[in-house]
Amino acid sequence: MIEKRNFYINGQWVAPAQPRDHQVIDPSTEEPCAVISLGGDADADAAVAAARAALPGWMATPVEDRIARVEKLLEIYMERGEDLAQAMSAAMGAPIEMARTQQVGAGAFHLKNFIRAAKAFEFDRPLSDRAPNDRIIHEAVGVAALITPWNWPMNQITLKVGAAAIAGCTMVLKPSEESPLDAMVFAELMDAAGFPAGVFNLVNGDGIGVGNRLTGHPDVDMVSFTGSTRAGIAISKNAADTLKKVHLELGGKGANVIFADADDKAVKRGVMHMMNNTGQSCNAPSRMMVQADIYDQAVEIAAETAAKITVGSAHEEGRHIGPVVNKTQWDKIQGLIQKGIDEGARLIAGGPGLPEQFNKGFYVRPTIFADVTPDMTIAREEIFGPVLSMMKFETEEEAVAMANDTEYGLTNYVQTQDGARANRMARVLRSGMVEMNGTSRAPGSPFGGMKKSGNGREGGIFGIEDFLEVKAVSGWT
Ligand code: NAD
Repeated sequence: MIEKRNFYINGQWVAPAQPRDHQVIDPSTEEPCAVISLGGDADADAAVAAARAALPGWMATPVEDRIARVEKLLEIYMERGEDLAQAMSAAMGAPIEMARTQQVGAGAFHLKNFIRAAKAFEFDRPLSDRAPNDRIIHEAVGVAALITPWNWPMNQITLKVGAAAIAGCTMVLKPSEESPLDAMVFAELMDAAGFPAGVFNLVNGDGIGVGNRLTGHPDVDMVSFTGSTRAGIAISKNAADTLKKVHLELGGKGANVIFADADDKAVKRGVMHMMNNTGQSCNAPSRMMVQADIYDQAVEIAAETAAKITVGSAHEEGRHIGPVVNKTQWDKIQGLIQKGIDEGARLIAGGPGLPEQFNKGFYVRPTIFADVTPDMTIAREEIFGPVLSMMKFETEEEAVAMANDTEYGLTNYVQTQDGARANRMARVLRSGMVEMNGTSRAPGSPFGGMKKSGNGREGGIFGIEDFLEVKAVSGWT
């Protein structure tokens, strides 16, 4: 079994000051695959002190040189892609092929976009032609605590580290205790890319330990957090005493509104999107709303599509879906599937229990409920598993009201061939992102939510700007 107990602080791998052994469980087998340490306050403090000491030098480093470090990071990232993929597969259960392509691929995509965006951005510029002596300087917010979840680990880590590094922030990363191995490989990449000591630090820990210490720390200027809405609220409260900048990327309950004139792949595409990463995506289209005229047909297509999805070990090649991350999530998902049945939704695919070929591993049957109504628990709660709720609507107005009837506001999806309607929908849906007809977001497009889905935007120049202060200087000579 892999033993990786040290933390990366001030450019070195060091033994934790307050270690607690933590077994990382492989969700495909339920066997431990690694032992790491969870640190304590002293470890968080040491990492923050290193980041604080490195800040003046890194802020003073020309942005071209900071970009060059990220370019080097991207190069090494590509070389070590297989190590990252294996680490994610073992700890959070992404099937290896999907880990290589989508999970690792997402990180490369973000780093490339940051490099491109930063090269085109004026970090220092005159306010306007009419005020040539007034300048706008964008400078680093300072020391950033980066706290990430387990579901798309490289996606989230690169979104934060790449942007912070280019902005001139120094940082302490606390990855999820569910998927720490990929983050530790990533720390090796940061080391090899030649970032000065202290610019990037990694401490493993849990939320109430290291997470809590970092988010309340007087020497941390900013928290960039991705994870659950519950933890986001706790972090905001903890950060309030020191008035830190708090960037939050939280949960979601996306609507996928399918009008009767949608293209004929829309339902299948919606099901496949929902089940990708075993439903463990904040932007999953988990409420499929279908117009009444095509509802029965859509239910049939959805059931057929789900029946063809295979479930398998993360270590096997192939395009199946893997297990969910851990026993707690498995239990929670099973409870919600049962609730769907008890509250009267119509089960058309999957259902409770392990898929029949398994007797261990945290596998869930790809599950679809039809005739879900807006008041049902499965229509309201983020399930974070391969469970889709299908709902029926008659009119565009009804679809908008149903889609917006949620405390979340991350991504909504619209399927229609009527351009005018698509544009109307884009304006009235309350979410940070609206995606039409299966198109994916363009490079550099901002990712983030409204309402209880959070407040920041990540990716491209929007992500870099989140780590920057805007300084107005008048009387520049
Ligand atoms: P989680 O909130 O339990 O944990 C996320 C991270 O926060 C972990 O590193 C954890 O140790 C830490 N943490 C937990 N409580 C904390 C606290 N009180 N103080 C400081 N740190 C704390 O979430 P998870 O289960 O790892 O991830 C799933 C959640 O993340 C889902 O709700 C999902 O929607 C959300 N998510 C959002 C996005 C987005 O961009 N909006 C992306 C991916 C995941």
